[in-house]
Amino acid sequence: MKTKLGLLYGGKSAEHNVSLQTAKAVTAAINLNTFDVYPIYISIDGTWTEGAKLEAPAASVEALQLSGNGGTEHVLSMLAQNKYDVVFPLLHGPNGEDGTVQGLLEVLNVPYVGNGVLASSAGMDKIMMKNVFAQAGLEQVGYTHLIRPRWEQDKERACSRIEEEIGWPCFVKPANLGSSVGISKCQNREELAAAMDEAFQFDRKVIIEEGVTAREIEVGILGNDLPECSVIGEIVPKKDFYDYKAKYEDGDTALIIPADLTEEQKVNMKELAIRAYQSLDCSGLVRADFFLTEDGRFLINEVNTMPGFTPFSMFPLLWKEAGVDYPQLIEKMIELGIERHQEKQ
Ligand code: ATP
Ligand code: MG
Ligand code: MG
Ligand code: MG
Repeated sequence: MKTKLGLLYGGKSAEHNVSLQTAKAVTAAINLNTFDVYPIYISIDGTWTEGAKLEAPAASVEALQLSGNGGTEHVLSMLAQNKYDVVFPLLHGPNGEDGTVQGLLEVLNVPYVGNGVLASSAGMDKIMMKNVFAQAGLEQVGYTHLIRPRWEQDKERACSRIEEEIGWPCFVKPANLGSSVGISKCQNREELAAAMDEAFQFDRKVIIEEGVTAREIEVGILGNDLPECSVIGEIVPKKDFYDYKAKYEDGDTALIIPADLTEEQKVNMKELAIRAYQSLDCSGLVRADFFLTEDGRFLINEVNTMPGFTPFSMFPLLWKEAGVDYPQLIEKMIELGIERHQEKQ
């Protein structure tokens, strides 16, 4: 009997298009002899649409942008009736990577791939995530945050506080997003004010971090209660930092796999990555991102509970180097989702 898989993609998030690209790649790689794959598209305005069972890889991203067929109500009733053995939420950003969809699937008792509610939501909010990491004794950059009404109330005062507490350069980020959307590096108050206005377009909470000069080192983790690390990789952005364009459009950022590190550094970083994973009670997978400072310290930047997942993204490439190719990785992630569901019963 084939496993019935609901492939959930798109989503009400600024990372909608990233998800579509990934979904196309997954339909090309997944073994259609093992899985009956049902595409489920979430449009940018939040309508869910189920497509017919896939007979072949998606021809294009456009072909995946489904419409009609009963809409959200229909898909929710299919989920509630346990049509799918497992759902693969291939969603990035709010309304998908942040525990909301995971919660829906929990309530409907549907097994799903990737992190659970707590890890997804805590991992989506960069402020919460950093608070948890601090509690776990992980070293990271200095940070502070602001909510929109406080910013609107007195921008001058907010800028003064940030200048004093964080200094230059600083990074301004919407608290709940990914793919570098809405992120700016600031060298002075004028840039800071513009960056804050920009970040508040995406979120009511913004995090401001101390900017570091450091190497960017990343590792993949797979597993439930006994997680394992992939090979470690390094990102060398050709630009000032690893922004959205560098990630998905230019494609000229160098991904160095494996990263040039000493054995001791590798062991040290993997230990920190597992600690981060467990501090957020992760399951399934994450990509853990660190800064390696010039004086040799690993500062955790973030974990991504649904990292970029095209065949050319860091997470799959790290596992490929570790001997797990893209189709195998997809199957492994699905197995882990089913296993976690069974262990909970
Ligand atoms: P994704 O989820 O796609 O990995 P993201 O949107 O969560 O990305 P970050 O990884 O936090 O964003 O930041 C994006 C990039 O900005 C980093 O890869 C790095 O190049 C740069 N950057 C972020 N924070 C800092 C910092 N505090 N100091 C120096 N560089 C930073
Ligand atoms: Mg991220
Ligand atoms: Mg992300
Ligand atoms: Mg990142």
